[in-house]
Amino acid sequence: MLGIMQDQPLLISSVLAHAARHHADTEIVSRTVEGSIHRYTYADAHRRAGRLARALGALGVGFSDRVGTLAWNGYRHFELYYGISGIGAVMHTINPRLHPEQIAWIANHAEDKLLFFDLTFLPIIEAVAPHMRTCKGFVAMTDRAHMPASSKVAGLLCYEDLLERESDGFEWPTFDENTASSLCYTSGTTGNPKGALYTHRSTILHAYASALPDTLDCSARDAILPVVPMFHVNAWGLAYSCPLVGAKLVFPGPQLDGKSLHDLFETEKVTFSAGVPTVWQGLLAYVKQNNLRFSTLSRTVIGGSSCPPAMIKAFQDDYGVRVLHAWGMTEMSPLGTVCNLKTKHLGLTKDEQFGIEVTQGRAVYGVDMKIVGDDGQELPWDGKSFGNLLVRGPWVVKGYFKGEGGDPLVDGWFPTGDVATISPDGFMTITDRSKDVIKSGGEWISSIDLENIAVAHPAVLQAAVIGVAHPKWDERPLLIVVRKPGAQVTREELLGFYDGKIAKWWLPDDVVFTDAIPLGATGKMLKTKLREQFGSHRLPTA
Ligand code: AMP
Repeated sequence: MLGIMQDQPLLISSVLAHAARHHADTEIVSRTVEGSIHRYTYADAHRRAGRLARALGALGVGFSDRVGTLAWNGYRHFELYYGISGIGAVMHTINPRLHPEQIAWIANHAEDKLLFFDLTFLPIIEAVAPHMRTCKGFVAMTDRAHMPASSKVAGLLCYEDLLERESDGFEWPTFDENTASSLCYTSGTTGNPKGALYTHRSTILHAYASALPDTLDCSARDAILPVVPMFHVNAWGLAYSCPLVGAKLVFPGPQLDGKSLHDLFETEKVTFSAGVPTVWQGLLAYVKQNNLRFSTLSRTVIGGSSCPPAMIKAFQDDYGVRVLHAWGMTEMSPLGTVCNLKTKHLGLTKDEQFGIEVTQGRAVYGVDMKIVGDDGQELPWDGKSFGNLLVRGPWVVKGYFKGEGGDPLVDGWFPTGDVATISPDGFMTITDRSKDVIKSGGEWISSIDLENIAVAHPAVLQAAVIGVAHPKWDERPLLIVVRKPGAQVTREELLGFYDGKIAKWWLPDDVVFTDAIPLGATGKMLKTKLREQFGSHRLPTA
């Protein structure tokens, strides 16, 4: 017997329509590419997204067509999120930090019909335009006054002109909730990038779950500043969760340095933010140097790479900002786990609580997870056994766009490529990417654990640990360190710093000092590059 409830598809357009109706005067504030601050409301965003939808139709964009964007976090990008998906076309966010060749490859693979870009990226557009096989037009996300006087790209369109020509009052079409809504390519550190193709349904379920109190706890009383880019898994879904709950949105545009962010946190009374550890490193350094505080920021979600415990401590103890350590991936829309304590932990000592807060946390409802050994057998949740982490759920991919890479699922589970432990309470700790784990004498050593300890040393700015070939043990850990400007520390002092913090056989065999750790387009350490650079390092014990 079927239930007797209304059969309303979960569509992305309904989220903005809801915000426009129930949070009409809630603000969206953006630092623009031109440098000024732009303010308007959800009602304005909804009206303009409707005009954009009409403009897309006039430019020949139809159902299922892909439309690319190369843009910062800002109000026009937000309108594109809704204007494009709202008509059943597919919003394809492209990471501008990729190499232009990779950008052209991705846009061709996606068969983008139009490409919208922020003026910052005009040089990229000029470089890639001759190689774009399917793109019929390029739209500069600006007004007439700021249009480039000349460009190598013929017939550039102007975003504000397109909207000006259209009228208000667009009626969003209704269609199947399983229609593709947006496309995001994985970073492709191994082989070509692969496209995760989200649906309206998966996006809305993810937005609901993200907003829950034990997830990101978003509400109409929040002012939320996503530092995480809208080209990195839809700003971790915040572009949808914020209008869903009616939170004020603050977009930082291209200025992601410590001062610009701190200014915006203060002037816009931001309560919650989100970003990768590398961004927060810059912010914390700026705040410390200038002896500043956060007057309204109460919590921030940190993920994308493991958040060093020293950073969690600095936020919590020095600035009273609670860190929600979270884990996810492009293939998971992205949220998988978030660290929030349970009632039974509230009576623990601060140190015991901290021991839990540094983990990547508990699965959000909608994500099922398990760890398995190399033989595929499920491993116990004892907080000690490490295994390959598999997930399943309604916002986890079941394959990639155009079937790239074949069927990734194993008995219906998606192998994340991460290695993790899970505690009896379900708190998950990522110990490594499976390709980064150090296999020493048949046992695994967590490079993340070793890095977290090194960055807690006062002289260390950044640290990475890779496995280096060893004749007896297969691999042994090598610690690669960037010192803080002006700081001195020796190999012996660093190795001594591990005393009592790890099992003796985990101790790195050697330390090398370098000027910078290479970072990928989403702010993760590029261990492939480090292995090329230091993989043949001769260990003293080898
Ligand atoms: P991406 O698809 O670019 O977001 O990358 C996803 C990958 O980032 C995951 O599979 C993890 O390897 C890594 N990652 C994300 N969040 C965390 C975290 N909190 N701790 C450790 N690794 C993380």
